[in-house]
Amino acid sequence: MTSQPTARATATIHLGAIAANWLAMTRLTRARTGAVVKADAYGHGMEPVARALAAAGCRDFFTAHGAEAISLRRALGPEPGICVLNGAAPGEETTLAQAGLLVTLNSPAQLAAWRDACPGAPFALMIDTGMNRLGLRGEDLGLVDGLRPALVMSHLACADEPDHPLNAGQLSRFSALSARFAGVARSLANSAGAMLGPDWHFDLLRPGIALYGGGPDGAVSLRPGMTLTAPVLSVFTAQAGESVGYGASARIDRQTRLATVGLGYGDGFPRSASGRGYGLLRGVRCPIMGRVSMDLITLDVSAVAGDIAPGEPVELFGSGIHLEGQARRAGTLGYELVSGLTPRVRRVYEDAA
Ligand SMILES: *Cc1c(COP(=O)(O)O)cnc(C)c1O
Repeated sequence: MTSQPTARATATIHLGAIAANWLAMTRLTRARTGAVVKADAYGHGMEPVARALAAAGCRDFFTAHGAEAISLRRALGPEPGICVLNGAAPGEETTLAQAGLLVTLNSPAQLAAWRDACPGAPFALMIDTGMNRLGLRGEDLGLVDGLRPALVMSHLACADEPDHPLNAGQLSRFSALSARFAGVARSLANSAGAMLGPDWHFDLLRPGIALYGGGPDGAVSLRPGMTLTAPVLSVFTAQAGESVGYGASARIDRQTRLATVGLGYGDGFPRSASGRGYGLLRGVRCPIMGRVSMDLITLDVSAVAGDIAPGEPVELFGSGIHLEGQARRAGTLGYELVSGLTPRVRRVYEDAA
């Protein structure tokens, strides 16, 4: 059997838009602007995205895992800074240090392992200022005595809610706690943190989702980093009184033209979009009828004029449907929609840098 590319869902990755979004973030600030490319660059493909960003001038990259950082080092060569946010797995410290990666120390245990394995190597320090996720707590900072981090970070819990009081609280705790590392570069803001204003910027921004065109609307207008499309497989007309899909959850109340499209939760498109999301066919919004199944969704295409041919692309998010809008209808976030796409979705790159 030969594979039929047109039968698969396609994520078209807009590398030029991702680079433009990064440049837009740099214009927000006098700090350096890094790029978070963990989780395969939020599903966009770590290597092509990082190459495009490096070509645009980015010099500071962040991954979550050591293995991601090692692949990135191979792709980008020795120059750019690559920081491993989750830190080293036990026993992995020396390998990561020797690859020239900036390992983040996030806990007393990671700090102790680092002292044992490679006490002289540069590292980043994460301080927990209120998220209670990863990072040394204020009362444990004495454990760092005698070591000098290359970068001190913290992470904001509520930056997507500008008026949340935790933002100011974390800012003042970070300012106070990081003061014990005089002269060390500091970084607090993710994408939404960068939008809070220059007080949150310190020396280095760590945007992720904004580079891919998602996250909260802010001071910057961002372009979609990805357009997800899937082909129409079948078009037919159902009659009043019939139903659509598993569980017969969508009832047909009048003659309705339906199109079944080759995309489902097996591609990472969430089942929670059942009966709530929509697809875009020839620019017309077509509601998802009934349940999203593993490989298929069915749309009400009654509003589309003319014949619809099998293979016609339906957009699920991207240039015509805002990522966060579709995510909201599915009860989730743009982060989860893009990073959750499975390898079955073909990635096609445009505007290669
Ligand atoms: C994922 C992550 C980021 C990027 O966050 P966005 O909201 O995608 O901008 C920054 N810093 C840390 C520590 C992270 O885990």
